[in-house]
Amino acid sequence: MGADAVDLDRIAPVQWPTPAFGAHQGVGFTSQRARDRLVRQLWAEGIRHPKVLQALRVTPRHLFLDNALAGRAYENVALPIGHGQTISQPYIVGLMTQFLVEGDRPLRRVLEVGTGSGYQTAILAQLADEVWTVERIAPLQQRARRVLDALGLDNIHYAVSDGSWGWPEAAPFDAILSAASPPEIPAALIEQLADGGRLILPVGTAVQRLVGIERHGDRLQQYDLGPVRFVPMLPGVEDA
Ligand code: SAH
Repeated sequence: MGADAVDLDRIAPVQWPTPAFGAHQGVGFTSQRARDRLVRQLWAEGIRHPKVLQALRVTPRHLFLDNALAGRAYENVALPIGHGQTISQPYIVGLMTQFLVEGDRPLRRVLEVGTGSGYQTAILAQLADEVWTVERIAPLQQRARRVLDALGLDNIHYAVSDGSWGWPEAAPFDAILSAASPPEIPAALIEQLADGGRLILPVGTAVQRLVGIERHGDRLQQYDLGPVRFVPMLPGVEDA
């Protein structure tokens, strides 16, 4: 079946998680039509979980970008968000989210490392009971929070901190996602993963792979989801 033939209304009907989502639909390049075109493309590329498609379908990615770039929000590309960082490519957001949703544990508690624009946070907040998100650049997280608050997503906890330490006070997590690439998987992220929980993150510096981990006691099942290019996971918090 071609992407054009996918009946999105059947597999992932539009259901605003809060009324504010409906109020921020956008027009033209930021309209529901534009979002649907992108979601069809992601479906054709293998993003098939109905809940993930539904979240991608209703989330106004244009709100997480500067006005000058909002018209490109529904292209399947990463875009700059300032401070040398990028909003992740929608396909990658879909792929990472799908890996977490398809794990054994229901997503009650989810940790995100690298809030960035807040777009991935918005997707996770629709699929999890509660999200803990960590960012090392304070102004980025403030901006993300303003948008997430305006959308009425009130199940998110925020911290400006070095995410390689995770968030020990809130652990264990059913799922952990990092949008920044460390040279090796930080031990704290494995330790803070619940039994049966899933972790997904890019690993590497110049050459990176998208790695999925499922924890079974001390045994870690590892999945390789292919080559990717993310910004590096940097140590400490950026000075204001
Ligand atoms: N999912 C975000 C991705 C932003 S890019 C989005 O789509 O907008 C990754 C983010 O990780 C950047 O904002 C960067 O500042 C942040 N980051 C890098 N190293 C980090 C660390 N050690 N702790 C927390 N955040 C980190």
